[in-house]
Amino acid sequence: MIKRIHHIGIAVADLDAAARVFGEAVGLPDGGREDVPSAQTRVHFFPVGESRFELLRPLAEDSPVGRFLEKRGPGLHHVCLEVDDVEAEARRMREAGVEFLTEAPVPGAHGARVIFVHPRSTGGLLLELSEFPATGEDAK
Ligand code: ZN
Repeated sequence: MIKRIHHIGIAVADLDAAARVFGEAVGLPDGGREDVPSAQTRVHFFPVGESRFELLRPLAEDSPVGRFLEKRGPGLHHVCLEVDDVEAEARRMREAGVEFLTEAPVPGAHGARVIFVHPRSTGGLLLELSEFPATGEDAK
């Protein structure tokens, strides 16, 4: 089951500057910062309603977000759908012809397990599927 749009990921070059804009200028509450080694990124969350913005800064130039910034500049990077069972949803979508960036889910922020749909399957959007631990506070 697909539950909701969990977050909107935005690639930024300067995480502190972008966080000041989303926190102070836009006025969203600070949802905290976290490193995601599997994606070589540092992320900073700003909750809004039942969703949130995820600002992403690469921890290495030669990483997916680093290459994205170099090629396309800062901006919308991905949209994340929260699902109740990431394996089941990925299997269902694969059977419908959807392509993924990896074979299996990888660890994401907040203890989630995530997998990314290839943009060529969605008309250009990088789509993330995330399953959160059942009792995780951040899954709410
Ligand atoms: Zn994300």
